[in-house]
Parts: sequence; C-alpha cells; structure tokens
Amino acid sequence: MKINLKHKGELFIISAPSGSGKSTLIKLLLEQVENLEYSISYTTREPRKGEVNGKDYFFVSEKEFEKMIESNEFIEYARVFDKFYYGTAKKQVYSRIEQGKDVIMDIDVQGAYQIMEKGNLDFTSIFIIPPSIEELKKRLIDRGRDSMEEIEKRLITAKNEIKYLRYFDYVVVNDILEEALSSLKSIIFSERHKVKRLVNEEEIYKHFAEE
Ligand code: ADP
Ligand code: 5GP
Repeated sequence: MKINLKHKGELFIISAPSGSGKSTLIKLLLEQVENLEYSISYTTREPRKGEVNGKDYFFVSEKEFEKMIESNEFIEYARVFDKFYYGTAKKQVYSRIEQGKDVIMDIDVQGAYQIMEKGNLDFTSIFIIPPSIEELKKRLIDRGRDSMEEIEKRLITAKNEIKYLRYFDYVVVNDILEEALSSLKSIIFSERHKVKRLVNEEEIYKHFAEE
C-alpha cells in the first residue's frame, strides 16, 4: 500500500482593493487547481451583463438578504461601497470543508476582517495588492465598468484598505499576472502539505510501524 496524504478542507480568504485583479486571478486558480471550489456569495446588487444567478452570485432582494441576516445564515456580510449587501452563507462553505474540499472566498476587506475578529474559523488569508496606485487607476479605467466618480471613490477606499494588510497571512503583488498566479498556487499547495491539516496521520504511523 502507498501512502496518500488526505487533508482537511481549507478555507482561503482572498481580499484586494477593487481593480487589483482578484477576480481574474481567482478565475484562473479555479480552472487550474484541482479540488478547489468557489464560495458563491449573496448580493443585493443587480446582475451585470453576462452574470448568472447561482454561478457568479446569488442575486437576492434587500428583504431576502435581511431575512438571512436575522436567521444567522451568514459567516460574514458587509455593505460594500456603502451601497449593496454582500455576504457569505454558511451553507456555501462548511459542508465542502468537511468533505475535504478547499474553498476560496472572494470578499472585501471589511468582510475578511470580520472573520478574523470572530476568530472561530480556521482559514488562510491572502491579500492581493496592485503594483502601484497609478496602475490600479489605469486598470479601473481600462476595465471600463465604473464611472470616473466611482473610480475616484474606489481609489480612496483602496488607500484605506491597504492598511489592513497587517491582519493577513500572505500578500501577493499582482504586477505580472502569471507571477501572481504562480505565487497564489504556491500558497495553496504549501497549505495542503501542513501536517496539522492531515486527517490520516494515524494511518501513516500505523503503516510504517507495520512495515
Ligand atoms: P478585481 O476583481 O480585483 O476588482 P479584476 O480581476 O476585475 O479586479 O481586474 C481589474 C482589471 O485589471 C481587469 O480589466 C483585468 O483584466 C485587469 N488585470 C488583472 N490583472 C492584471 C495584471 N496583472 N496586469 C494588467 N491588467 C490586469
Ligand atoms: P462586485 O460587485 O464587483 O462583484 O464586488 C464588489 C466587492 O464585493 C468586491 O470587493 C468583492 O470582493 C466583494 N464581495 C463579494 N462577495 C462578498 C461577500 O460575500 N462578502 C463580502 N464582505 N464582500 C464580498
């Protein structure tokens, strides 16, 4: 018999100032890393062109979202950019972790900080930052999704969000996309080799005691 490492599912929290390239990187990770699943958030904002309910987000009304808050269905939630609610439902995360799947969460910095403060979850947090504020502005403009007024607001928010870096486990600069992707993969793979995450440690001891 050969030993296979079996590990507990890990929760990866990924946060970044808007426009840093977090969605781009997460999409590539999900395509390229096995056993990694995405936690689909709930939001009260309208779907953008091409977004699919139940794939990109669960799009719900303000009333439905507040009902979920009352019944304690969220791990965390926040009003992002003072506008819409965004939240991670417990049912999106817990059962998958128990099944040994790794789950990736794309949440804003406030939401990440809420989870860190609660301190009742085991997770690895990764902060993605742009190479400079000028490059962030350029990416937000080139993305062509937000008005200039919205972009200026996001840049102010970004400067405040960077201060939360100290609370994260890892930091990745998204300058060259391929390099940032490779750093993210290294972090995920390293976590998968932590002895404390093994669920078959006893099996390994037993196996070598018998040989
Ligand atoms: P976020 O999800 O963090 O708001 P996006 O993934 O939407 O950011 O990326 C913002 C814009 O920057 C997009 O137009 C994307 O194509 C572009 N982008 C992402 N990563 C890079 C990179 N490393 N270099 C140049 N442009 C990038
Ligand atoms: P967008 O509307 O562009 O998809 O997302 C806006 C912001 O909301 C992003 O910074 C994204 O990380 C954040 N976000 C998405 N889902 C969640 C969530 O479940 N909780 C929190 N706190 N933020 C979220």
